[in-house]
Amino acid sequence: MENTIVKTLIYDKQVRLFFVDNTKLINEILRLNKETNNILKLTLGKTISVVSLMSGTIKGDQRISLQMTMSDPKYKVFVDADAKGNVRGYLNGELLKAPYDYINKISLDRLIGNKGTIRVIKGSAMNQFTGITDMPYRNIVDDISHYFIQSEQTQTYIGANIGFGNDNCILFSNAICAQLLPGAKPDLIDEVENTVNTNRGFFSSLNKYSKNNIEEKLSELFKDVKVIGYSPVQFFCGCSKEMFYGILHSLSENELKQAIKNKETIDTACQICGRTYRFNYNEIQGLLR
Ligand SMILES: [Zn+2]
Repeated sequence: MENTIVKTLIYDKQVRLFFVDNTKLINEILRLNKETNNILKLTLGKTISVVSLMSGTIKGDQRISLQMTMSDPKYKVFVDADAKGNVRGYLNGELLKAPYDYINKISLDRLIGNKGTIRVIKGSAMNQFTGITDMPYRNIVDDISHYFIQSEQTQTYIGANIGFGNDNCILFSNAICAQLLPGAKPDLIDEVENTVNTNRGFFSSLNKYSKNNIEEKLSELFKDVKVIGYSPVQFFCGCSKEMFYGILHSLSENELKQAIKNKETIDTACQICGRTYRFNYNEIQGLLR
């Protein structure tokens, strides 16, 4: 099942277990970042992978936005998702143009450093919750688990795996999240983690399974499995040409007049999805009226 979150309850409703094969989604986003090195791809890919799974936990018009700030605070990663599974994410401009010598020699652990933070904003426009936590594990995935434990007081285990191929493509990407429900035995979280780690092959080949046989297969790994639903994830930016008129407004009147006089076009590009929007001189003229 590609780009589909599988939602289950296991151990007789003591644990909520969600997982997703999001190879397609992550490939689509990383293709837009093909100029960046593997450490940055891993940083963006893992963050998006986990947030895409978290989209399965929100409802209605709720959104979830995660901002990760590295120890060097000019380096940031942004990812957000809505309850329909529309996911987008990007590395900020400073990170994209970080010096080659710095970014090509660094590990993920050192990039995050000892002062990294995660900020999560969750909820709808009317009712928002913000939580900020540090990143003691410096590997993103355990740090997001740490966020849930600290900020939402929910015992959580998160796993995310991305396999890089030889070219710009990734071979697989999947994410899993287990959370203890009220009254659950505390050691169940370790049991789930162990089972996931000893069955990596299963989670890396989720696309082989369908709604017909997934519950049966999971029952070989966990006790009392019940599949409670499915929800899709997909890349969606939501940008529009109208949003880029603001950038034209930031140009000086002289620059705009010059473009009109020479019948030039002005191109703007969305840094999230890479789509370009072209403004012809008639449209630029509209701004000066
Ligand atoms: Zn866009």
